[in-house]
Amino acid sequence: MNINTNDFKDINPGDRVLMGPGPSNVSARVLQAMSAPCIGHLDPYFLSVMDETQLLLKYLFQTENPFTIPVSGTGSAGMETSFVNLVEPGAEVAVCINGVFGLRMADIVRRLGGQLIRVDGEWGRAIDPEAVRKVVRGKNPKVLALVHAETSTGVCQPLEDIANIAHEAGALFLVDMVTSLGGIDVAVDRIGIDVAYSGTQKCISCPPGLAPITFGPAAIKALESRKSPVVSWYLDMSMLRSYWGAERKYHHTAPINMIYALREALRIIAEEGLEARFARHKLNHRALVAGIEAMGLAMLVPESERLPMLNAVCIPEGVNDMKVRKALLTDFGIEIGGGLGNLQGKIWRVGLMGHSSSRKNVFLFLSALETLLNAEGAKIKTGALKEASAVYAET
Ligand SMILES: *Cc1c(COP(=O)(O)O)cnc(C)c1O
Repeated sequence: MNINTNDFKDINPGDRVLMGPGPSNVSARVLQAMSAPCIGHLDPYFLSVMDETQLLLKYLFQTENPFTIPVSGTGSAGMETSFVNLVEPGAEVAVCINGVFGLRMADIVRRLGGQLIRVDGEWGRAIDPEAVRKVVRGKNPKVLALVHAETSTGVCQPLEDIANIAHEAGALFLVDMVTSLGGIDVAVDRIGIDVAYSGTQKCISCPPGLAPITFGPAAIKALESRKSPVVSWYLDMSMLRSYWGAERKYHHTAPINMIYALREALRIIAEEGLEARFARHKLNHRALVAGIEAMGLAMLVPESERLPMLNAVCIPEGVNDMKVRKALLTDFGIEIGGGLGNLQGKIWRVGLMGHSSSRKNVFLFLSALETLLNAEGAKIKTGALKEASAVYAET
């Protein structure tokens, strides 16, 4: 095959304001860290970077679990790692499903030959702990899994009660923290979460490519008492443990420059402080919602169950979803997400994640949306920016 290299221009995507369900905008500091020289993965310098990254991850997960590492792969690799290490064929696994990512968990359980126990909940609402209790009664689940921040609907799932239900049933409590980690409190040890995983491109504001994961003592014990080998060689935690642990036993080549990026993103988070970071996410969310509601638009999720970093806005009657999203991108450089599954065409998913969660972005988005909805002839009220400003003025 002949190729003409003149056909291939420099990569130049231009500027974007990333306000969708992820990735979020990546700070210049993180991009700069990524461009540091690639060195050997067993180089003493890199080993110290690994140690520091693990320490920073423990801080972020709020855990003392020694086995806290970034898996090489995106958030879905974190999900797959969690299940593949804990589920042997025939094992009962309870999965709470109230959105796309709960469904994905159920799919993985089936592929592993687990016996799926479904706890179904309404999309756009949190799962009621009593519903979980009812479904698992008389069953013997090895794992009880749920999604903390359901990115497909914008729902925040309270964890405490369901953690207790899991442990009373003798199950490990497994939590998807892909969208929550770095944006809201996760308190892995305090709540008693046995396994949690995340992704780098949501509230951590690092490019996609790594899946932070933490295994607590009960999960390690379950891993060590398996009867059959883990069916995935690449995601086998017992081998990853020897690689990230004191032995540093070669398993695969860590994505060196991605780890640099994660370390820098985590350092930025630690500099801000967790409390301040959570408060920032909440404040910008409240201002965004105040503006949205001032326009007369509705939020999908009831106030007490809303996520601060993912805002599901109901698309007003008669407004063309694709047309508005396309104009947001081409006229304003703003990316937001559309609805998934049953919610396709019904909601917009507006992210305020990590670096993207800023007052500047709230005002930019509200003004752009107001302009485009007026151009569409939608009946909206004025005063969005005034109401958003009022929220900032309170503090
Ligand atoms: C984004 C997301 C995932 C999948 O992560 P990828 O990085 O896209 O593989 C899983 N769970 C939740 C809740 C997510 O938001």
